[in-house]
Amino acid sequence: MAEWLEGKVVENIHWTDSLFTLKIEADIAPFEAGQFASLALMIDGERVARPYSFLSSPGADLLEFFFYTTETGVLSNALYAVNPGDTVLVKNPANGFFTLDEVPASKDLWMLGTGTGIAPFLSILNTDRPWETYENLVLVQGVRRLEDFKYQEMIAGIQEKYGERFRFQGFVSREQIEGTIQGRIPASIEDGSLENAVNLELSVLDSQVMLCGNPDMVKDAVDHLKTRGFKKNRRKSPGHINTENYW
Ligand SMILES: Cc1cc2nc3c(=O)[nH]c(=O)nc-3n(C[C@H](O)[C@H](O)[C@H](O)COP(=O)(O)OP(=O)(O)OC[C@H]3O[C@@H](n4cnc5c(N)ncnc54)[C@H](O)[C@@H]3O)c2cc1C
Repeated sequence: MAEWLEGKVVENIHWTDSLFTLKIEADIAPFEAGQFASLALMIDGERVARPYSFLSSPGADLLEFFFYTTETGVLSNALYAVNPGDTVLVKNPANGFFTLDEVPASKDLWMLGTGTGIAPFLSILNTDRPWETYENLVLVQGVRRLEDFKYQEMIAGIQEKYGERFRFQGFVSREQIEGTIQGRIPASIEDGSLENAVNLELSVLDSQVMLCGNPDMVKDAVDHLKTRGFKKNRRKSPGHINTENYW
């Protein structure tokens, strides 16, 4: 039976006016990398809850979540304002099927995310499992502006640990930044510029693709992949694509 536990806020890192990270202490049952927890606050006497992907990996001391405050967003703005020592409700156990249990083994695993949609990928990449299952791992993050890239130190740490097996490619839609692709992820699948940039081919024989975040990115990217023969993974008929839409 699911239950609401009281989590204690240990840290609230305000990266920008609209991006922040919460580190929470809560005694929840073990979860799988890629899953999400429902978090809630009491607002005007009502429990307001939304799902958030774990950025931390299973077994870490603290639960970590990476947030974007949507302009009129009720819960994200309320969470932005919490302080160390405050209580955030955490639903126990965790949920979700955006995990490697649902992704067949293959040579390459591509992880495409927008904004905070990078969270489940960092959770997965900081476990041993993807490195035992896939030869090459490609992490792609699309943001609006350079300042929206966070967790670059963590990504550099993964790069250092796994060398050529790991590739990170950033996309910035509103600025031209050296080393990143200006534009959107789906267009770069269509015109091949993502594959050129990371020097690896997306192919139905060798690639599994996970996509997370903005539903427009997910839909458009999946449409381009489908024209190249990619199919969604179903338990009874394995394919190549797994998705998690944030709204
Ligand atoms: C499985 C799952 C995992 C999620 N994990 C995360 C996460 O790790 N981090 C995170 O920030 N959000 C995540 N979300 C989104 C989150 O659940 C909330 O929808 C978001 O925080 C907005 O809640 P709100 O109460 O502030 O806004 P509401 O008042 O509920 O307004 C919702 C609207 O905000 C917009 N929106 C929602 N999420 C985003 C976003 N991330 N970026 C831009 N616009 C958005 C959409 O237009 C949506 O209709 C996840 C959603 C799902 C379904």
